[in-house]
Amino acid sequence: MASYSGLRILTEGLTGNRGWKPAWRKPEPKPAYDAIVVGGGGHGLATAFYLASIHGITNVAVLERGPIGLGNTGRNTTIVRSNYLLPENHHFYEHSLKLWEGLEQSLGYNVMMSQRGVLNLYHSDAQRNAYTRRGNAMRLAGIDAELIGREEVAAMCPLIDLDNARFPVLGGLLQRRGGTARHDAVAWGFAHAADARGVDIIEHCEVTSMIIEGGAIQGVRTTRGEIRAPKVGLAVAGNTSVLCAMAGLTVPVESHLMQAFVSEGLKPLIDQVITFGAAHFYISQSDKGGLVFGGGLDGYNSYGQRGTLPEAEHIFAAGASLMPALKRVRALRSWAGVMDMTPDASPYICLTPIQGLTMTGGWNYGGFKATPGSGWCHAWTMAKQEPHRLNAAYTLTRFKEGRMLDEKGAGPFFWMQ
Ligand SMILES: Cc1cc2nc3c(=O)[nH]c(=O)nc-3n(C[C@H](O)[C@H](O)[C@H](O)COP(=O)(O)OP(=O)(O)OC[C@H]3O[C@@H](n4cnc5c(N)ncnc54)[C@H](O)[C@@H]3O)c2cc1C
Repeated sequence: MASYSGLRILTEGLTGNRGWKPAWRKPEPKPAYDAIVVGGGGHGLATAFYLASIHGITNVAVLERGPIGLGNTGRNTTIVRSNYLLPENHHFYEHSLKLWEGLEQSLGYNVMMSQRGVLNLYHSDAQRNAYTRRGNAMRLAGIDAELIGREEVAAMCPLIDLDNARFPVLGGLLQRRGGTARHDAVAWGFAHAADARGVDIIEHCEVTSMIIEGGAIQGVRTTRGEIRAPKVGLAVAGNTSVLCAMAGLTVPVESHLMQAFVSEGLKPLIDQVITFGAAHFYISQSDKGGLVFGGGLDGYNSYGQRGTLPEAEHIFAAGASLMPALKRVRALRSWAGVMDMTPDASPYICLTPIQGLTMTGGWNYGGFKATPGSGWCHAWTMAKQEPHRLNAAYTLTRFKEGRMLDEKGAGPFFWMQ
């Protein structure tokens, strides 16, 4: 496998770039493995990487129905942060952020992690109180958070309309360690590093049903034949309920759409990731210069990877209220991802009632930042068949038990999250 270093890039540059090898192999599926991970997005590839690198389980297949990384991993707005309120969430996401901070070294791959800061704006006294509470909870847990005033906001981003009559900006909650990473590179980096440790990444291999004998998983049937394993982990994002149904499980998730947009390339305008607290809108600038932005759910259950116009209009209107200069910017592309939304908008990384079958899912619109943490905890849960303390709360049964992890306080309604 190719390894990457400054010296290698220099050498290849001087010799016509003829020595590069594919970043991962294209193996044929074997009839049996020690473990199978279904889904070649960031979470599935991360699970396989940590299974191999931490738990020494290298006889692993990642089964992906298309090419890797073309699901939500390749469609998201790449925001990475750990500014959560609930203890179960902020410990997990902080663990994930720490993994991000060392990811390029762990993978030997440039994922373009950029800790440019995530600034959540507030527009009322009540919202300031809520952000103060969140920031204090974070700081008590040893996570960085700063409450800043409107002068600092103005200095950071002069494009923001502070004096909007309807949504005046009073300040913001800043997490300087938050930022962005290059989404494709995250999938490719995990694939490269997992492959180098012996994991078979099998693309164009759709799982069509499960092999369950005596209440235990024994493998899966795929478009490329039957593949057996005593441990199967699901990491299929918006298709969680479909794959669970194959195992006879009805799970509390709904598939929802969310859109993203990118503008024409511009000179540097926005240094941080900025979120508009008055409406669900967030924006950052990519290294190529495109403004990357998005908003909330479309609110429809769908598997179509394209969004609807009313939500697009809402997102553009929110952007123009926050930064009037955006009215002059052309949007180049839009797309949507299919996400699995849970009743409390928090995820699952857990065992299931089928022995040997585990899952990481329910990531909805917040799972990119969770990629290394989800893979790390799911690998632990697959290897040991028990949760780590960081994902112990992320069970499927918490709704029955009345232990919701309702970060936004939006109630048990999928479409309100
Ligand atoms: C528009 C948008 C913006 C977002 N912005 C952010 C953000 O800024 N920050 C953030 O933290 N999160 C964000 N998210 C959420 C984040 O992208 C997802 O939560 C995360 O990428 C999920 O990763 P994954 O690996 O589980 O999913 P995916 O990358 O979707 O991977 C799942 C894979 O499973 C495969 N699969 C499905 N069914 C089968 C089958 N039967 N057999 C084999 N393979 C199968 C799919 O093809 C897919 O490749 C956003 C999401 C969207 C849609």
